[in-house]
Amino acid sequence: MFAKIIIDQDVKALDKVFEYVIPDDLDVEVGQRVVVPFGNRPLQGFIVEICSECNYDASKLKPIIRKIEDFPVIKKEMLQLMFYMADKLYLKLASCLRLFLPSEMRTDKIKELIIRFCRLADAFEVPSARAKKQLEIVEFLKENGKQKFSEVSGQFGYAPLAALVKNGTVIVEEEQQNRAPAFDVLEKQERKLTDLQQRAVDEICENKTYLLHGVTGSGKTEVYMNLIDRQLEKGKTALMLVPEISLTPQVLANFKARFGDKVALIHSGLSAGERFDEWKRIFFGEARVVVGARSAIFSPIENLGIIIIDEEHEQSYVSESNPRYDTHDIASFRRCFNDCTLVLGSATPSIESYAKAIDGEYGLVEMPVRVNGMEMPKIVVIDMLMEMRQGNNQIFSIPLIYELRGIVEQKKQAMIFINRRGFSSFQRCRQCGYIAKCSDCDVSLVYHRFDNKLKCHYCGKRYRALDICPSCGSHDIKQGAIGTERVVEELQKMFPDVPILRMDNDTTAQKNGHRQILNEFKNAKPGILVGTQMIAKGHDFEDVLLVGIVDADQSLYQADYRSIERTFQLVTQVAGRAGRSLKQGRVILQTYSPRHYVYRFATNYDYKGFFKKEANLRKVTKFPPYARIVRILFTHEDENIVAQECRVCYNKVQQIKEQYAQDFVYLDVMKAPLNKIKNKFRYQIMMRFSLAKADEIEKKVFDTVDVKAKSSVFFEINPNNLS
Ligand code: ADP
Ligand code: ZN
Ligand code: ZN
Repeated sequence: MFAKIIIDQDVKALDKVFEYVIPDDLDVEVGQRVVVPFGNRPLQGFIVEICSECNYDASKLKPIIRKIEDFPVIKKEMLQLMFYMADKLYLKLASCLRLFLPSEMRTDKIKELIIRFCRLADAFEVPSARAKKQLEIVEFLKENGKQKFSEVSGQFGYAPLAALVKNGTVIVEEEQQNRAPAFDVLEKQERKLTDLQQRAVDEICENKTYLLHGVTGSGKTEVYMNLIDRQLEKGKTALMLVPEISLTPQVLANFKARFGDKVALIHSGLSAGERFDEWKRIFFGEARVVVGARSAIFSPIENLGIIIIDEEHEQSYVSESNPRYDTHDIASFRRCFNDCTLVLGSATPSIESYAKAIDGEYGLVEMPVRVNGMEMPKIVVIDMLMEMRQGNNQIFSIPLIYELRGIVEQKKQAMIFINRRGFSSFQRCRQCGYIAKCSDCDVSLVYHRFDNKLKCHYCGKRYRALDICPSCGSHDIKQGAIGTERVVEELQKMFPDVPILRMDNDTTAQKNGHRQILNEFKNAKPGILVGTQMIAKGHDFEDVLLVGIVDADQSLYQADYRSIERTFQLVTQVAGRAGRSLKQGRVILQTYSPRHYVYRFATNYDYKGFFKKEANLRKVTKFPPYARIVRILFTHEDENIVAQECRVCYNKVQQIKEQYAQDFVYLDVMKAPLNKIKNKFRYQIMMRFSLAKADEIEKKVFDTVDVKAKSSVFFEINPNNLS
């Protein structure tokens, strides 16, 4: 027999199926990991097919050396998923397979945790009275049954125990133990569903995709849990994805309390050993519910009844680094394979998903009010230009300071949100609020400190950095962002006796940093929590009555077609942190563009209005979801090579463009906005095509990429990050 094998090397030249002979005495199946001779060294590989005939000269094929595990580590569904990803997302086969296994497994560094136990043999002779210790051990085991070897030898000494083992009185048995991740213990809470929740659970009943649009605090989590329960009752399993930053200790504990040993939790806080053991519990069917961040979508769970993606609009569901994929695509594949239900949940669905729901491709389920019937927090927009004209040059507006004082006096809590995404920022006139935009693309320009230029991240056009405002002539041009640290400092000056906590990437780097800060904040009354996106989700503090958004425009003027959508999502999510209990919360939103439509819709919690406006804009300007953007990114240490290879590819793409005049909307080649990262130069080809021909053009474009190119070539579809 012959085996078709994928070599576990992330190399373009090896990205195909190789044939090997299966020795007669080797018993292997599809999906198994094996060691094969390759060139003159042994390499690991995966069997993807077993057949009785081969395509090449059988006498030249080499035999498989050995198998690594006794069982196939890649299940049938995942093999199909691999071919699907390679085909649709232009990924290497081996790099797909790597996503499916805990990385620890591939390095063979991780070992199972084996514990030795000892017990009395069924029949044995009682030791003589002189062997006092041995007698004690026998008595002890008689009374207590099976005990850990290390404990018995610790208590009575190694020598007498070893003697008993030797003469057969005591039997030693080895057991593999799972390293269970630590979690907070919570009481199991069974809540009676509200009518709206019950209706949502009832509506989500078919094997198709649903969009669950529920405002913040509408109790989506409880709906998910009920849907999962229903599948478990039917003997099916469930997979639920949550953004990493929402996998707070509180959330994990809730799932553990609800599903007990049936649940496997996968998040970045696990040690390598814990991750491996959770993976095995899933693989062997012990865990029937998986809750985890993005990568959990590749869990080897079988018999799926439902897949849930919470906060489906979150950007973190798209893997931007190699291999690039969007979790939605993988979930759709698994939904089809398992013929199960897929639920996408959000208070602010992505434009893409909502468009599909409106077109009837997804079922739309709505929960428009909060569980406790409370109104959404009131969002007050503060015009920071006006503040400045009135002589306030501080970070905080007068109304925000006033509200903060009130919170401190009432011994309540506030959250201050700062959005610090992006490596560089826009330039803005502090007098009139003018922001430099690209004349061709109508997106704001990004300031590059390195060469003191403004650049358009879409078309690459460069502009002089502003020193005088073209609109009002002022020299007062501002750039750069205010950081969390600075805000904490200012607040501490204002409220020296109030605990001011900071939560961002720096303060949560340690394993329990996140939990510590939240615990401290829980008890701080009055208290103020300052943070980035991390504070925007998943926390339920009932005494938070005020949320301040220091500079809402930060995400608005990213050079990215999704920046307005993202601002809407952010404002809604952050505002959702306020007033979760019985008092209505208040949100102070500081902006230099108070009349921007995004704030008008956000303050009214008018998602539908916003969607209409935004979707229309995208339709007219031909951006996703009504068109497709593709970027091919070339990187190499030698700038000549990368520029040359990029140019050659561009010329070929240009010929394709000529064939598709109407449908090929846009094409250009340029240095990437971040021209050099880690000593590698970056060049890119940007293109946009109409949806009608997108698949067809995309395939042709992909085929123009020379597999022998020296540069690393990345093929990205509707990329989030264009830097
Ligand atoms: P969402 O994810 O939609 O923003 P959550 O799932 O976080 O909302 O729920 C908001 C709050 O309401 C949580 O504190 C949750 O414990 C509570 N809750 C949810 N469902 C119920 C219910 N049926 N009865 C009482 N409280 C509920
Ligand atoms: Zn100006
Ligand atoms: Zn431009």
